[in-house]
Amino acid sequence: MDFLGIHLMDGGSLIISTMEYSISPDARLALDLALTVRHDGQGGVVDDLTDLTGLTTWVGAHADALPEAAGFSADEPTLAAVRELRAAVRALFARAVRPGEPSPADAARLLSVPEALARLNGAAAVAPTVPVLSWTPASEPVVHHAPATDEDPLTATLARAAIAFLASPERQRLRACHAPRCVRYFLKEHPRQEWCKPSCGNRARVARHHERHKKIAS
Ligand SMILES: [Zn+2]
Repeated sequence: MDFLGIHLMDGGSLIISTMEYSISPDARLALDLALTVRHDGQGGVVDDLTDLTGLTTWVGAHADALPEAAGFSADEPTLAAVRELRAAVRALFARAVRPGEPSPADAARLLSVPEALARLNGAAAVAPTVPVLSWTPASEPVVHHAPATDEDPLTATLARAAIAFLASPERQRLRACHAPRCVRYFLKEHPRQEWCKPSCGNRARVARHHERHKKIAS
């Protein structure tokens, strides 16, 4: 899908870029889960899922993608399970961006790939699914996997989204942003995109400029 994206730069100037790729709901959900680990703007890292309120808020904000969201109130076992699943997703994101470097937020404490896969598949296996075919007049037939029973834990939904994303061609657009202080994973929106946001590109260019001048001065 082609559409125009308008970004407001840090300095207030407006740039208009052509975004050449769209993002699927599965990719969006898996990415948003990973992005609950984020930078605090001061060189540190914050975690949106450290307590029950954090998880309840995050699920509420993803009500369109999570059928479980209606009336959801987090409990300790669910929070622990979602955090364990997120660690698996981030380890597999780190695997997906190779040979690029992973996000520095957790690069030093990543799960092994076999352990991450076992955890992800384990979470998805908790709820059996059935294939459902949709075929609208305007589109190609699409299959998605719907829960076979009423029991569908949040972690199973999140795991299915991560599996669908990691097994799709969209995975090849996944990158870790290596602008100063940034720890985000992002999906490239156009072929030459190097940074998650224009503001990160600006910071990276400023840092490179300083680096060059330091070298010249010394
Ligand atoms: Zn960034």
